[in-house]
Amino acid sequence: MSEHSVAVVRLASASSAERQEILVGVQNLLLARGVIVPNDRRDALWQPSEWKPGPGARLAVVEPVDWFDAFLDTANNGVDICGDRDVYHAVENDEAPRCPHCAASTPTAYTDSYDDWLEEWSIDGHEPVFACDRCGWSGLVGDWTGQFGVLIGAPAVTFYNWPPLSPAMITDIRAALGGRTGIVASHW
Ligand SMILES: [Zn+2]
Repeated sequence: MSEHSVAVVRLASASSAERQEILVGVQNLLLARGVIVPNDRRDALWQPSEWKPGPGARLAVVEPVDWFDAFLDTANNGVDICGDRDVYHAVENDEAPRCPHCAASTPTAYTDSYDDWLEEWSIDGHEPVFACDRCGWSGLVGDWTGQFGVLIGAPAVTFYNWPPLSPAMITDIRAALGGRTGIVASHW
């Protein structure tokens, strides 16, 4: 069975104390609205996440989808809220982001030196900057437009196999994470 996830990731750096505070903030936001509830039956294969959909989940998605009730019985429909820096990769969705100004694709360096800049970002926390070949705009990779690239950051909230979340929900999560944030929509 194919699976998908959406991760909302804080890209701005934060101390471990700040990350902990942000994590509690975003957790409280989702708990207060009933979007998540503690998963009291965690199982590595069936429901590995600490959180699962709550009664408010229905209001957090774009609009009632006809498979919502089936979704509540889906094997892996949990939510992870991770306070440690991690790599969020689109896996089979993988697609380079585009220039936010002219929509050109990333320069060849993005692909050619992919492993190098990803390793450097992962180990040194140095988010790479790319310049657009077409219009000359340059910016951090997380500021390029797209949801199918790779991002590294923390904290992050990952929804597994959920129906599309409403833009308002995404906006509120991004606000709770604070600073620069990005989204990775994965499929595997
Ligand atoms: Zn451009």
